[in-house]
Amino acid sequence: MSRSRTGGLGPSVAVAAAIAASSCGVGEVPDVGLLDAVYAPPAETVRIYSLGNGQTLGELLDGTMSANEQASLLLSFREHASPRRMRPGTEITLRYLRPDEWLRGIDVAMSRDETVRLTRGPIGWSSRIVSTPVFVDTLFASGEIESVLWNAVVGNPVLGGMPVSDRNRLIDHLDRVFQWQVDFSRQIRVGDTYRFVFEREVRPDGSMRAGRLLAAELVNSGTLYHAIWFDPNDDGEGSYFDLDGESVRRAFLLRPLAYRRISSRFTAARFHPVLNRWRAHRGVDYAADRGTEVMATSDGVVIHRGWDGSFGNSVEIRHPNGFVTRYAHLSSFRRGVVVGTRVKQGDIIGYVGMTGLASGNHLHYEMLRAGRQIDPLSVDLPAGDPVPAEDRMRWLTERNVRMSLLESIPGGGPVREAVVEVQEDAQNAAAQRSPW
Ligand SMILES: [Zn+2]
Repeated sequence: MSRSRTGGLGPSVAVAAAIAASSCGVGEVPDVGLLDAVYAPPAETVRIYSLGNGQTLGELLDGTMSANEQASLLLSFREHASPRRMRPGTEITLRYLRPDEWLRGIDVAMSRDETVRLTRGPIGWSSRIVSTPVFVDTLFASGEIESVLWNAVVGNPVLGGMPVSDRNRLIDHLDRVFQWQVDFSRQIRVGDTYRFVFEREVRPDGSMRAGRLLAAELVNSGTLYHAIWFDPNDDGEGSYFDLDGESVRRAFLLRPLAYRRISSRFTAARFHPVLNRWRAHRGVDYAADRGTEVMATSDGVVIHRGWDGSFGNSVEIRHPNGFVTRYAHLSSFRRGVVVGTRVKQGDIIGYVGMTGLASGNHLHYEMLRAGRQIDPLSVDLPAGDPVPAEDRMRWLTERNVRMSLLESIPGGGPVREAVVEVQEDAQNAAAQRSPW
């Protein structure tokens, strides 16, 4: 595919947004002229150590202070964590005060987000937790899908400064928002487009601590999907709604695996056989690594759990309204899942494998109604509640703000362009069908 029209706001726009949000603009800084450089030696020297395998904090500190002092330090450290059970490789920074190299403090990096800071005082050591500072920024991205959604998002130049693992998490967010509307592994088409506004907390090293999609839009085969975050009680327990305030949730997830776990995402070539095989054997096969978590697609009761001929290890769940779902070729079952277990949508029930008649690790998923297989994509049963009536005014205000953010992103929402793409593809196809 040589065509490239991946759009989106570049880093300059994100910078502009950040500047607009700060209270002091560049133009307000008074001109003080050129100053001479001042040389000031650092007041502190640091030595950084890495905890060895099986090594305790006390062992690492042996010889740096008296036994009494070390006991005081470990006692203080114990208020936050066990000095004997620490991750190998934990970074420990010893901070010395110049000029006489007096040990004044020790930082123990417990995780990427928390450091135990130990400070030496006149009566011994004290400690406190220091959180790694983060800043919040808003990411605007858009793009056109040239092969599969995965490549379109991971390869988006706007996200170039983002670690790959964070871009993967971004896809997880998109998948979780659209998991009831669009099966990214089966329904995405070349020429589909997306836009999203993502708010994230970023660490000093550029990695993401947490994030949330504020608004997302997907044009899939000419159909426009929106998901707008709304949190009525401001307690983080919000949800996603379409433009009319209807919940995006449905009674069934379209797919029992997270999109990013599906192997076929990597190539378009493996994507189409999945579609074709549905007609051949009345189920959907998802290639995934052995051990990948398999989720119940809807609330229900387990009616089969065990060996079932060519299906191998399989689970069947009965749902309201005569629906049954079947999950086959599992390597193993989730502990506690037996006949009679009540499950909720999204609960893990087992793990991908190749038991029974299977040539490779994959999940065979079937949906039945009144004993007949149906295509999971054909079921559209609303499940979530709409925006509560009493929150309607606030919803409208927030929806409009989030939509205007989304609409500020160029390159998205091109229903008209999508049609053009389809026509181009049709011409290409026609050209390829010519008899010579
Ligand atoms: Zn199958």
